[in-house]
Amino acid sequence: MQKHVLVTGGAGYIGAHACKVLARAGFVPVVFDNLSTGWAEAVKFGPFVQGDLLDRASIDAAFHQYRPVAVMHFAALSLVGESMSDPGRYWRTNVNGSLNLIEAAVQAGCMNFVFSSTCATYGDQDGVVLDEDTPQHPINSYGASKKAIEEMLKNFGAAYGLNHVIFRYFNVAGADPDGEIGEQHRPETHLIPLMLDAIEGRRPALTVFGQDYPTPDGTCVRDYVHVMDLADAHVKGMNWLLDGRGNRAFNLGTGHGFSVRQVIDASRSVTNRDVPIVQGPRRAGDAAALVSGSDRARAELGWEPHRSTLPEMIRDALGWSQKPGFLR
Ligand code: UDP
Repeated sequence: MQKHVLVTGGAGYIGAHACKVLARAGFVPVVFDNLSTGWAEAVKFGPFVQGDLLDRASIDAAFHQYRPVAVMHFAALSLVGESMSDPGRYWRTNVNGSLNLIEAAVQAGCMNFVFSSTCATYGDQDGVVLDEDTPQHPINSYGASKKAIEEMLKNFGAAYGLNHVIFRYFNVAGADPDGEIGEQHRPETHLIPLMLDAIEGRRPALTVFGQDYPTPDGTCVRDYVHVMDLADAHVKGMNWLLDGRGNRAFNLGTGHGFSVRQVIDASRSVTNRDVPIVQGPRRAGDAAALVSGSDRARAELGWEPHRSTLPEMIRDALGWSQKPGFLR
């Protein structure tokens, strides 16, 4: 019998890569997405339900039709800067949408739930290696909304036995090396695609947000993970739940941080081209450094982020950005 997995946000960047890995592992990913930030063209590995998490009836209908063995919940608004200027939209979409989905899952008896959370739930902890037991003090509305959903999952776990794996992502980058799917946001706000746009002349320059952070070169430090490694972790996390191993939170990062300047230098060596740069002010809500303590996912899930080097992530992102028909 085919095992379906309901993938909210499966038309988006990370969700689409997870669908590819799910299909490769023998599952049928059912994408549930409102296409507010995703792309119908990215739904390639299973059926597509165009629906909105704020519409409970459409979620119930998807559970009824496909009877999934698990949910992977990627659908969310995820831009730190926007979450600071429009917090209501973040709380409504992320928290109310997740509440609808979680209640629908419990009602349908689908008790295995994999949730996309974020290192932004930890906040700005100045030099602390962020492991899963680090107290969570988000400094932006995006992180606060994700932390609220983590709490929701714990409450529903206690009340109804909803089994959940929480993944706290660090910075996701790169693309499917086969070139079937990749990163495509409108507008684009992420460092690596914007840097490639600047290199390839699709925009005049990359603005470096802040040069006076308390980091070795003054620019923000982040822990970058290849999107295919991240997708692999989700299938491992889902299998963990299907094997009845209980509720767990995992960081998904490599344990190594790179500054914005180091990312720019790495792209120079991959592309042999200079990145036109403009120095800009800090972006609201940005933490100085976010680096994962990543032992738990390695030790317990057997996860190895073997594609997550800067050159490989930049090379795969570049390959995708150069595809014919690339929409931007
Ligand atoms: N960044 C930058 N210029 C840009 C976009 C991002 O300097 O045009 C910096 C940003 O301040 C952060 C890092 O690059 O320190 C990664 O930002 P991104 O938006 O890619 O991911 P986030 O850390 O917000 O999840």
